[in-house]
Amino acid sequence: MDTFETVEVLLDVPLHGTFTYLAPHALPAGTRVQVDFRGRKQCGVLVDGVANPALDPAKIKPLAAIFDELPPLPAALLRLIDFVSAYYHYPKGAALFTALPTALRVAQAARLADRRAWALSAAGLADQPPARQRARLALWQALQDGPQTIHDLRAVSAQAPKVLGQWLEEGKAERAEPPSPELEVADGPPLNAEQQAALAAISDSFGRFQPWLLQGVTGSGKTEVYLHLIACALAAGRQVLVLVPEISLTPQLLQRFADRFPVTPIAALHSSLADGERLQGWVDAWQGRAGIVIGTRLSVFVPLPRLGLIVVDEEHDGSLKQQDGLRYHARDLAVWRAHDAAVPIVLGSATPSLETVANVEAGRYRRLLLTTRAHAAASLPQVRLVDTRLLRLNEGLSEPVLAALAKRLQKREMSLVFINRRGYSPVIACPQCGWTSGCKRCSSKLVLHLLQRVLRCHHCGWEEGVPRVCPDCGNVDIQPLGEGTQRLESAIQRLFPEARVLRIDRDSTRNKDAWDEVYRKVHAGEVDILIGTQMLAKGHDFGALSLVVVLGADGGLYSADFRAGERLFSLLMQVAGRAGRAEHRGEVLVQTQWPEHPLYLSLVAQDFDGFATRELAARREAHFPPAIFQALLRADAHEAHEAEAFLGQFKAEAAPWLGEVALFGPAPATMARLAGRERMQLVFECADRRALHRCLNQALPLLERLGRKAGRSLRWSLDVDPTEM
Ligand code: ADP
Ligand code: ZN
Ligand code: ZN
Repeated sequence: MDTFETVEVLLDVPLHGTFTYLAPHALPAGTRVQVDFRGRKQCGVLVDGVANPALDPAKIKPLAAIFDELPPLPAALLRLIDFVSAYYHYPKGAALFTALPTALRVAQAARLADRRAWALSAAGLADQPPARQRARLALWQALQDGPQTIHDLRAVSAQAPKVLGQWLEEGKAERAEPPSPELEVADGPPLNAEQQAALAAISDSFGRFQPWLLQGVTGSGKTEVYLHLIACALAAGRQVLVLVPEISLTPQLLQRFADRFPVTPIAALHSSLADGERLQGWVDAWQGRAGIVIGTRLSVFVPLPRLGLIVVDEEHDGSLKQQDGLRYHARDLAVWRAHDAAVPIVLGSATPSLETVANVEAGRYRRLLLTTRAHAAASLPQVRLVDTRLLRLNEGLSEPVLAALAKRLQKREMSLVFINRRGYSPVIACPQCGWTSGCKRCSSKLVLHLLQRVLRCHHCGWEEGVPRVCPDCGNVDIQPLGEGTQRLESAIQRLFPEARVLRIDRDSTRNKDAWDEVYRKVHAGEVDILIGTQMLAKGHDFGALSLVVVLGADGGLYSADFRAGERLFSLLMQVAGRAGRAEHRGEVLVQTQWPEHPLYLSLVAQDFDGFATRELAARREAHFPPAIFQALLRADAHEAHEAEAFLGQFKAEAAPWLGEVALFGPAPATMARLAGRERMQLVFECADRRALHRCLNQALPLLERLGRKAGRSLRWSLDVDPTEM
């Protein structure tokens, strides 16, 4: 007779710990179940653990259902979730359910396509149908060569499902694993010397943990190196995980992979998939059927039993960090996974994050450079700064820019006008002498709040009045940076009425059809001037762009956000990379009031390393990441004082055990008001990552207690290694 035993279950609830239920028999960790929790049916996942001995055995409820249509979730996934929960100080159940596809989060059996194949049993093989049973004979013959999918058998005869159902009952047919196709790799261009060196070094590290930075400008042939590495991994029978930013997971990229590996099943996981499709891709990867998984940040959780290599393309890209709920960084988790699975990981970028650069400097990651454009004909574009201080502007456009556009129109070449419209918080600056509104108490910039007429520090909370003249040189023409890009689009169309202008916006990038239409127009030569924002920066090959104009870049030069310069540089390098991909050398014009700014000088020289060295030194000087580690405690409420009181109370009670951790704030968030809620924040900083985490562990129970005590409108969250403040 079965004995009942207790099991520990993780649920999708914002509570730490596991919940105890009764199981009819022993069940392995990773089993998906249904339970009654607070009067509702919920999905749960079993994990190892022991029941709280204080529980009254009479009150422990039995599991409501056990789902066995899939094997238990693999141990590697549960290990990853353990790490995620500990590192991000996030409840383990909620973390696990974030990682699962929606179809596995619900208290229902998963519905999966039948991926298995049919084979003849010994009895079936011995029993050849007579010639007059044409369909049966054809199916029987088709199965002589080994297992076949129902899809292939249907092509032999439409009666396949019916006949095989019968044969199954008669013991003549049985279910089997489909044969895995032989690896087939289509030819790519022969690699140049640098690409070969990169390929050799990285493939030499197969079978052990080694992070690599593959650094090279757009078009230097990084993807080509990935494709060769993937071929090596597939040939060794391993699976490959490829993470890409949302913006670059385009049909063109997927097609490039599918063309190179024509028979390898590829699971492409992106946000526009229906739940069923996502589940299928996820399960195909987990069951080892998909050789390649290519996806956006959430794909970092996909189980891969034969993982052999991880690639993170555009590793600096902001979309790899989740900005709500479980605020994980997919690149960092990918590195953890590579370590856990003892495989190499390749981080690719033209402008690596300073975190990664610091890891290279510390010897933890190894760097490989691709210094030239792989395509022999394409050379790096020429970047020029257009100093707008000395020029009359026509609707925000300078004479050199207008002339350059007119020239391209005449020559029937396509131009791109890139408008930098990132919501930088306005910092006041003097274009005459370079003064900017810095904080007197810390190394941040003060942000202009027009309504209250104050400058405010979002790091430490300092506040002061807005100066009327530049405090350094007396210039009366001081102004907020980064304004004035709003009207530019309509201005361009007005100034060039004969030009065929195509604007790329959210709508034209939302779905594949709209994108295809943009592509068709661009490649059919039906566009003279392409206008776009951040969306245009990366991933799309627009062919013959001979001119790129950059407007509104200055907003990213001085900002309250210490990462603004890094983002701006990376963006401008990518945008510049759009120019001159075809036969001729492209030209890039950047309109600016700050032509002597070192960031622009590095850009003109296309010198990322120079930029990174200077920026890292500045971060060390100012005690900003990656020189130190941060966590952000956010609180929001209907009234600012509620959020401030919560954070203030926490700060006061935490003071005795903070140790080396410094707390800054409470200060208003950069977006101080959002959706009718007032947002405040407190920054934790420490030079020692472990000390910071010890402190956060201690902070958690206090936060939960204060959170329960606070008014009902208060919400709080922790963000470890925040990228947006
Ligand atoms: P990245 O990923 O660095 O932007 P890609 O790998 O996409 O660069 O290469 C840019 C273009 O150059 C692609 O069209 C690619 O097919 C081509 N390419 C890459 N490597 C070579 C090579 N060794 N010889 C010729 N063409 C190449
Ligand atoms: Zn000045
Ligand atoms: Zn300050």
